[in-house]
Amino acid sequence: MAAINDHMNAIPTRFGRAAMQNIGKEIGRFAVTTMDRPWQVTKDLIGGAPAAVYMIVSMEQSYLDSLIEELPTCDSIVGIGGGQAVDAAKYIAWQKGIRLVTIPTILSTDAFVTEAAGVRRDHRVVYIGKVRPDPLVIDYEVIRTAPTALNIAGIGDLLSMHTACFDWELAEKQGRSEYPFSADIVRAACAILTKVSTTVGDIREVTDAGIRALVEGYMEMNVIAHSAGHWRFEEGSEHFLFYELEERLKRPFIHGHIVGLGIYLMSRLQENDYQNITQMMNDVNLAYFPSGMDIPRAVLQASLKNCHQFVKQRNLWFSILNVKEITDDWIEWATADLETKNAVFF
Ligand SMILES: [Zn+2]
Repeated sequence: MAAINDHMNAIPTRFGRAAMQNIGKEIGRFAVTTMDRPWQVTKDLIGGAPAAVYMIVSMEQSYLDSLIEELPTCDSIVGIGGGQAVDAAKYIAWQKGIRLVTIPTILSTDAFVTEAAGVRRDHRVVYIGKVRPDPLVIDYEVIRTAPTALNIAGIGDLLSMHTACFDWELAEKQGRSEYPFSADIVRAACAILTKVSTTVGDIREVTDAGIRALVEGYMEMNVIAHSAGHWRFEEGSEHFLFYELEERLKRPFIHGHIVGLGIYLMSRLQENDYQNITQMMNDVNLAYFPSGMDIPRAVLQASLKNCHQFVKQRNLWFSILNVKEITDDWIEWATADLETKNAVFF
């Protein structure tokens, strides 16, 4: 994995309490993309006066292009907030060829370590551009101002490697893998999971070490994806169940929560060490229960029963959903603990 390690420090980072303080004085003339709450938390810390501050109200490409048209001449663009504010800054930095600084104020998404910006064309997500922050600023105090449950949700896309790697291996065994299978990548993914498992208490309490572990996990995952050219090791049946539910219910979810439910159910369908991964999700206080997401039992049941058709129709990556039938008996068994843990579910 030497090649992977060579990329490890590819994103310049600044970690610390008050890490963002006065960064505005180091980056020339700058503009900010943000939202109300993140800006309230950070505007007195950033130092220097931004040439412009844009409150991001949409991720439509046409809207972002209109911001670029009115952008004053700048050396840097600073994205402050969650995924959207950061992605808007990435898009602008890429289009204008200027320096990007990202200051995530919440960890619920990995937008701040990925290179492409997720923008919308007619409400459909497209990933475009290729930029990296210089630097990525992780200010522990700023991140702790976000709701704890949302920061914890950041663990969802790390734990998903547990089920996604299983699916990739399964696909390989059946001669159905879309990408050349790599045991090295699976080993690297497992190593990230093992490391995360030792910091579950810190992630639950959102300590400095917990925040750092999540960010470093994301960065390591991003390095793997960068060298592999795909996210097969991180996305599998646990995400596919979520896509089905999202289409069925036509509303957004907190990503880490719904992915957590996917991990809970798909690790059981895979018979893949589900006790341990469930224990980890419980220990970290990940809110993956259907009732917490307003998913009635009948809806979850219908979704599970449709998954096999759904992944075939969408031509999604080959996974356990292609090979194992989901029966009423199985649903009864797999959801039994969700029932006892949360009576509202039934
Ligand atoms: Zn995800």
